[in-house]
Amino acid sequence: MLDLAEMAERYRSARDVFLSNARLAKWEIYSIPHPLQGPCEIDLFTDVASCGNTQSPNLLMISSGTHGIEGYLGSEIQSRLLADDVVAVDRSDRHAVMVHAVNPCGFAWHRRVNEDNVDLNRNFVDFGSPLAVNEGYEEFRSLLNPIEWEEGYEVKLKAEAARALERMGLAALFKAVSGGQYEHPSCIQYGGNAPTWSRRTMEDIWMRAMAGKHRATQIDLHTGLGSPGEGVLMTYGTEEQPRIKRARAMSRLAAGRFGRRSCQGRAWPPSRKPRLRPRCSRRGSGIRHEGSRRGVVRHRRRQLASSPW
Ligand SMILES: [Zn+2]
Repeated sequence: MLDLAEMAERYRSARDVFLSNARLAKWEIYSIPHPLQGPCEIDLFTDVASCGNTQSPNLLMISSGTHGIEGYLGSEIQSRLLADDVVAVDRSDRHAVMVHAVNPCGFAWHRRVNEDNVDLNRNFVDFGSPLAVNEGYEEFRSLLNPIEWEEGYEVKLKAEAARALERMGLAALFKAVSGGQYEHPSCIQYGGNAPTWSRRTMEDIWMRAMAGKHRATQIDLHTGLGSPGEGVLMTYGTEEQPRIKRARAMSRLAAGRFGRRSCQGRAWPPSRKPRLRPRCSRRGSGIRHEGSRRGVVRHRRRQLASSPW
């Protein structure tokens, strides 16, 4: 268990390496301060670095730390990409932007959610319209939000999940457990009741970066899904959509060059049975995912270097 000073040091160190590598690679940087502070009263920021041709119609954005603690892996990938100058290959045909710590509060405090227990992946919805009701969540609410995490609870959780999977099927279970909810602010998968600071900040970044763009790609770096040692290129859609076919083509390209475990392109949710484990745990720190980290970085380096933009 890290103490507060160690937590503050980890955040400061990750940020310093990112900013240092961005400066060395001659990227332009601006930093947006978060209104709250981190452990040991350390100041928190979302940092934005950009390079390339701002007049290009092509935008490539790579972001980290939407799920706070997962930012340590994302930060390292970003810093390595900067150190290797991969994203900036042929700078004239793209404008590249890196967003470091979309959720700096969760990043520094080692939490998946933000300062208000909001899962940011569920916060980018229209709060002016009636919010979706996840009817299946209620059945699992007490199981997913135990008052105390007793010894052996994880075993019980997995057993209950296996039974529910058998009874409901993957799609319904996935929707119930991971589909988000807007009714219980202290429970997991909460999407908030208004746009969060991180969402408003990202919208400002997008407004600034998207001006004049015709084509934009954002890669948001996460951990927690997929097998150890396997980088997963994940996107929503159906198998028939061209972008899913492109993801599969990239997967085959990566598999041919780096071995089958290096990357998979797939639609999400998957058709096969997932591994049942908490989506975010200490593994999300990136420390224990050495193989996964290498796989993702290698794949991204090759893919970006060979991409037409
Ligand atoms: Zn995540």
